[in-house]
Amino acid sequence: MKALLYLALILAGVWLWRSLASRRNASGHQETSTQHPPAAMVCCHQCGVHLPANEAVTGADGLQYCSHAHLQQAQG
Ligand SMILES: [Zn+2]
Repeated sequence: MKALLYLALILAGVWLWRSLASRRNASGHQETSTQHPPAAMVCCHQCGVHLPANEAVTGADGLQYCSHAHLQQAQG
């Protein structure tokens, strides 16, 4: 039955190593997430679809649209 003891020790070691590694990865992930914060969502003024603000098209009136086509539909 010594094999079971060795297996338990190996599993404990792997678990310990994984928990330490995941803690290290979590801190690394936090650093990258601060460099790339989640984009703010805006609403297309023409069709109402939600999209990231950095992908939105802003019209001359300051309103935001999902595409140039909807910007032209709203203003043309
Ligand atoms: Zn739209």
